[in-house]
Amino acid sequence: HAKKQGRNGYCFFEHGMNANVHLQMQMQQNLRQAVSRNELVLHYQPKFVAPAGPMTGLEALLRWQSPDHGFLSPDRFLPLAESSGLIVPIGNWVIEEACRQMRVWYDQGHREWSVAVNLSAVQLEHHSLVDVVREALKKHSLDPSHLVLEITETTAMRNAETSLTVLNKLSALGVSISIDDFGTGYSSLLYLKRLPANELKIDRGFITELAQDNDDEAIIQAIIALGKTLDMRIVAEGVETAEQQALLTQLGCNTLQGYLLARPAPPDALLEKIAHMTKRTESALVT
Ligand code: C2E
Ligand code: MG
Ligand code: MG
Ligand code: MG
Repeated sequence: HAKKQGRNGYCFFEHGMNANVHLQMQMQQNLRQAVSRNELVLHYQPKFVAPAGPMTGLEALLRWQSPDHGFLSPDRFLPLAESSGLIVPIGNWVIEEACRQMRVWYDQGHREWSVAVNLSAVQLEHHSLVDVVREALKKHSLDPSHLVLEITETTAMRNAETSLTVLNKLSALGVSISIDDFGTGYSSLLYLKRLPANELKIDRGFITELAQDNDDEAIIQAIIALGKTLDMRIVAEGVETAEQQALLTQLGCNTLQGYLLARPAPPDALLEKIAHMTKRTESALVT
């Protein structure tokens, strides 16, 4: 079709494509060196006991501070990291860094917190994962109970039997397994029952329209009932309004996470915010 548009149209199309392919290649080249150049950073988003605390743990969320491309969220570079296999060394760095940071928090007295790390399918299917997790915990003398691994339903299902084997090994180490973005994938109830998961995170999509949509409320109720039957902790992600917060608590959701309570932030900014929240809760209790 481009050719029929004449010479200019054709050239434009081709140049456009080249520019895009070139950018992708350049990004991949840069991403390859991102770990060694210390360009990757973890922000952390707290999880709270419903409705408003205390804080039970934090989820590590990856960002890339690239001199060439700017400050990037995962959706801008994760697909590239996954298709190129770079997610394996990058993911190993995330596991190691999150454990290091959890050790720091633990030493500051936050002994009941846990840190959650997101895993891609490529990482889950890579033979080194269990060793990497074991070594990171050992290196930072961290009890496995302080580490949670978040895997989406879709990730677990991509290679269902392999996933099950690896997750069982990880669970045997003593780390917790969390099923992320639950309700968006296609896992059967039978498969879910076989997964050694301790936590179920209801996908943000169901939370967004909660107050407006009766179907979403019914679905959330069903997910909570299912999770409780399977002895899992239920987390709602993406809580943005006080109305959602109240309704989710009333429906029996144990844990809340979302912009309403706290946005993802670097560790220092986060501790300040938590200190403020704790003070507010304490004074609320006094009055
Ligand atoms: P996720 O694990 O489901 O994380 C939740 C995403 O929702 C995060 O986006 C978070 O910043 C955002 N979020 C949290 N609360 C709210 C809210 O109230 N409203 C809205 N609109 N959004 C909220 P982020 O940080 O861009 O991460 C996107 C996804 O990238 C994550 O989804 C996770 O699947 C993946 N990811 C992040 N870090 C890593 C990592 O280190 N390794 C791997 N493999 N994947 C990661
Ligand atoms: Mg997650
Ligand atoms: Mg999620
Ligand atoms: Mg997600």
